[in-house]
Amino acid sequence: MYITGGVVSKDNPLYLEASTDFNLAIKKFPFIIVFCFSEDDVINTLKYAISEDIPFRVRNGRHDYEGNSNVNKGIVIDVSNINYTFIDEVNNKAKFGGGITTGKMYSDLVNKGYTVPSGTCPDVGFAGLTSCGGVGFAARLLGLSCDNLLEIELINYKGEKIVANEYSNDNLFWAVRGGLASNFGVVVSLTYKITPVCNVSTYVITWNPKYFVDVLDTWQSFTPYADVRLTTSVEYKKESSGDILLSSSGQFFGGKEELERIIEPLLKVAPTESVEIETISYEEALEKWSSDCTGPEKFKGTGSFIYTPLSKRILNCLEAELISAPKNSTQFYEFIGLNGNVSKVKPNETAFVHRNSLYLIEIKSAWDLEMDREDNVNWTNNVKDLLDSVGIGTYRGFTDFDIIDWQRQYYGDNYPRLREVKTQYDPLNIFNFPQSIEPL
Ligand SMILES: Cc1cc2nc3c(=O)[nH]c(=O)nc-3n(C[C@H](O)[C@H](O)[C@H](O)COP(=O)(O)OP(=O)(O)OC[C@H]3O[C@@H](n4cnc5c(N)ncnc54)[C@H](O)[C@@H]3O)c2cc1C
Repeated sequence: MYITGGVVSKDNPLYLEASTDFNLAIKKFPFIIVFCFSEDDVINTLKYAISEDIPFRVRNGRHDYEGNSNVNKGIVIDVSNINYTFIDEVNNKAKFGGGITTGKMYSDLVNKGYTVPSGTCPDVGFAGLTSCGGVGFAARLLGLSCDNLLEIELINYKGEKIVANEYSNDNLFWAVRGGLASNFGVVVSLTYKITPVCNVSTYVITWNPKYFVDVLDTWQSFTPYADVRLTTSVEYKKESSGDILLSSSGQFFGGKEELERIIEPLLKVAPTESVEIETISYEEALEKWSSDCTGPEKFKGTGSFIYTPLSKRILNCLEAELISAPKNSTQFYEFIGLNGNVSKVKPNETAFVHRNSLYLIEIKSAWDLEMDREDNVNWTNNVKDLLDSVGIGTYRGFTDFDIIDWQRQYYGDNYPRLREVKTQYDPLNIFNFPQSIEPL
């Protein structure tokens, strides 16, 4: 049993970078990081870790909120170099290596005039994102990323390759669409349906932040039921300077005039500070959204799915929480519109259970100085507690170790079936990490 691939150990000058996650608040020191260049590298490293009883984690884009793809005194199996793209235009599908990022997937496809719906930040791993669901600015029309998945190839605990699709290993295929793939093995390829794209219309509106309650109240009553070609979000953010910003953005698969008509309720709800509505190429839209992405930072994040509109009382509480949030650090809520074609799939049809939610709220705080950590973590947890009184569960992609009933929050009624699939495909619980699915 031996490891193949690019091995980075503690004495290697590359070790610090190779062991650093996107969330800089979490620092872990693995025994080695193995950069895999082929399926054989994955199989050999996995077999070695299992035979030597060394803890291991599968890693790609390093964006897990809690650094759950890294492990102290263990082996990180990094698949980020397995990132090829094959586009099959005849059959309208594309196959990607299990280590592709959202950004590379987008650019490889958009060059040929296609897309698969995904998130906004280019460095996020596509296997991790898809297997949590995959929420983004095309979701209300094209569905979640996982709704466009046709097949995965995964290396299991025996080092064998399993192909899962609608017809073969369908139970596993069900589970990896919302149930986080690392519970079952290492994904080495993903095949998706691709959709032709050309131009889209986008908008960005800003308001004085004092209108937060009115804007959000209007947004939540119109966006879940708007034309499915439109996906929108609202961001309410406090900068480390203390400035508070309120904005809404959206992407529409249609013309500018039509978009302007659809978002009229938002344009009228309060005096705007700026309005930008334009028709641009899909590629330009991808660049526009990705320009808002931050680099690695120290943060605490969590989420909440909202199934019924929030009352003004809760909105006032959210406003008060943000205004009084810890100083010298950043906090925000991002309200991400769903429903539309996301809810055309039933909650038990894939492992992504939150099909009937109206929107997802991301709650995040970020700080520079260690002394600001505790206040920000407490702030994030307090807001989560508030939203737990009205929301139902959270997104698997926003890993939060402070959630005690994570099984219910991430997976709801799908958890018992996920445990069955786990038992079938990983009976010895080899793929075992905090908040991993428990076999029966
Ligand atoms: C800045 C930022 C922006 C984000 N934006 C979005 C967004 O727009 N939409 C959205 O839906 N989500 C978003 N997310 C959440 C993101 O989708 C999840 O955190 C996702 O799991 C990250 O995958 P990764 O490969 O980047 O991270 P990693 O930390 O490398 O992996 C995350 C998890 O996926 C597993 N994993 C990764 N690759 C594989 C593989 N090939 N086989 C098996 N398991 C694997 C890991 O073991 C780990 O459990 C965002 C997160 C951040 C931090």
